[in-house]
Amino acid sequence: MLRKLEKSNTHFRKAVQRLPLGVSSNFRYWGDDKTIYVKRGEGARLWDIDGNEYIDYRLGYGPAILGHCHPEVDAAAREGQKVGTVYALGTEKELAVADLIHDMMPGADLVRFSNSGTEAVMAALRLARAVTGRDGYVTFEGSYHGVFDAAMWRADIENLADLNAEPEIITYGKGIPGLIRSLVWQVPYNNPTRLEDVLKKNASKIAAVLIEPILGNCCGIPSQPEAIKAIRELCTKYGVLMIVDEVKTGFRVGKGGAQEYYGVRGDIFTVAKAMGNGYPIAAVCGREDLMRHYGRGVVHGGTYTAQAMSLAAAEKTLTIMRDTPVLANIAEYGRKMQTGMSRILNARGIAHSFAGHPSMGGLFFRAAPPVNYRDWKTSDYSFYDALAANLIDRGVLCEPDSREPWFISSEHDERCLSDTLKAFESAVDVTLDQTKTGHQEKFWVTMQAEFGDKKPAAQNAAAE
Ligand code: PMP
Repeated sequence: MLRKLEKSNTHFRKAVQRLPLGVSSNFRYWGDDKTIYVKRGEGARLWDIDGNEYIDYRLGYGPAILGHCHPEVDAAAREGQKVGTVYALGTEKELAVADLIHDMMPGADLVRFSNSGTEAVMAALRLARAVTGRDGYVTFEGSYHGVFDAAMWRADIENLADLNAEPEIITYGKGIPGLIRSLVWQVPYNNPTRLEDVLKKNASKIAAVLIEPILGNCCGIPSQPEAIKAIRELCTKYGVLMIVDEVKTGFRVGKGGAQEYYGVRGDIFTVAKAMGNGYPIAAVCGREDLMRHYGRGVVHGGTYTAQAMSLAAAEKTLTIMRDTPVLANIAEYGRKMQTGMSRILNARGIAHSFAGHPSMGGLFFRAAPPVNYRDWKTSDYSFYDALAANLIDRGVLCEPDSREPWFISSEHDERCLSDTLKAFESAVDVTLDQTKTGHQEKFWVTMQAEFGDKKPAAQNAAAE
């Protein structure tokens, strides 16, 4: 290891006595001797308590789109806080932020705030069930929609020997009631034919098709434009609601999110992460005739929804996005970084491709970019795992899991780019050497053991 992690290791040993795994999410645990604790962040960089500096490509799984500790957003949040914390009453800023969302995102006739992506998706699914009177729902292989029970089902692609066979649909870990299984259908991504097979037979039991327009937890695999349009048409044809989960893509891949990018509108959609630059806020939005059901028999609420500080932060973040070219700049950085990485990988004859939007692109060790989760399995993800460990050692904080995209903020600048590419070149060479000698250091080996997951490398997406 190039970094010293003495202080993080010491803190871990203390923390683990009070906090399971020494952290507050299973997925912040990177091994007894590799779990790091953050001292502070600024812009695109962060420092751990040992003083190691990192260029951050995780951004807390996406939110810090304007960079850590953004002075204007933080000042707005402090100002917002003067309103107070919670009153179990509304405040004026709710309307201001809802108006911004409405003006930027197509199809946001009405808006309800939540605190997290999980809560927003849960609220969206409840609304769909209430309106249709049906309990079933369809999701896509490789998707992730939060930690509530209905979302904790996944296709076991890791253990699927024949990629043309049907994967088992299993839970993310224990404690998810098996009773829910009969409500879930899951189909391969970018495959409207398979979706139609399901809808043809089961539409009378299905409330919604829940889709990430770009698989933000699976290499950033994008919808093929014709596939997402066909999915939209199938939902309309079979009278099933389309919920577009823009928790990661919203206010990231464009001002109007992925729905604007593809020219497709969900009936209901969710936004979260980037809208508050890290302050906890999310929203469920959609067609007026559906959204009016809130308060007409459909429950939605929560002590902390539309909290003043988060609303003020969201207002500032969204205003910056609306009025400046930050999102275009972020995408441009992503493209430049990918070009630089390709130059390094091509010079060494390493087959690779990039998936998804450059602001949240996946690096993938296979010549053709993936179209669905099954394609991920045909890539050299072991090489990614080893490379990620070497990158982190060299101050490039990417996700150790090959299925998480690289998130770019508006604060990633030319210096970040050259530092990243320099570290990338060195990390690739070290990884190649390790591959020859069989001495790869992989975070996953420790992490999987701790997750108690009998099926390797399977649970990470549930981290967030
Ligand atoms: N939906 C998507 C598409 C997500 O990526 C995530 C989190 N990564 C969620 C929902 C859940 O959001 P949260 O972690 O804020 O609950």
